[in-house]
Amino acid sequence: MTENELKSRLREIALSCGGSGPERTPAGPAVYLTFDDGPGPYTAGLLDVLKDCGVRATFFVTAQKPDCLDLISRASAEGHSIGAHTFSHEYREIYAGDGAFLRDFLACEEMIRARTGRYTRLFRFPGGSSNTVSRITPGIVTRMSETLTAMGFRYFDWNVDSGDTSGIRDGGTVLRNITEGCRGRQASIVLQHDIKSFSVGIVRDVIAWGRENGYCFLPLGPDSPEARLPIAN
Ligand code: ZN
Repeated sequence: MTENELKSRLREIALSCGGSGPERTPAGPAVYLTFDDGPGPYTAGLLDVLKDCGVRATFFVTAQKPDCLDLISRASAEGHSIGAHTFSHEYREIYAGDGAFLRDFLACEEMIRARTGRYTRLFRFPGGSSNTVSRITPGIVTRMSETLTAMGFRYFDWNVDSGDTSGIRDGGTVLRNITEGCRGRQASIVLQHDIKSFSVGIVRDVIAWGRENGYCFLPLGPDSPEARLPIAN
């Protein structure tokens, strides 16, 4: 497909998602747990914890682990929001050019549709919108954010970084990063990775802490509060 064909197909996809449903306005401060880069080997256990706690979250998915893709169906069926993260998660390929980015985005949308029966308007840039790998194609994140937003897609970064990809390997630090990051915020969008066992392992503790402190847990939707990092391309 040419770049223009990719854009017109994606425009149709965004339209097919329809308008947003009525957004539930949280009574108090809200925490939006988001998990990137799965599904992977720890995603099923995470879904068990979320189900047990009655919490719905958001999964920004990839196709990196073909054997785990059925978990996207399960997550969707259990009420979690599914967002497109990237099909390949190969930054240098995705950010190689506008066409390459759109092709990967479409592949991710098609994978989600195949597993859940519908496309999604939610996405997260690989590496977040502030990533600097994308500088291999100057301005690409700016152009893609404008193009996809105009079509009706919504991208989310985060305002609470669990730090689980920053070299930390212990759950205690991840838990502390999250609770300290959420404290005092009305809307916390928390970045975690469900391909990290030590990060998945403290989710039950995050939920317990949140509930003790008056936070509710919600999945992201197209009308959820934004958390955007400065674009750095
Ligand atoms: Zn990622």
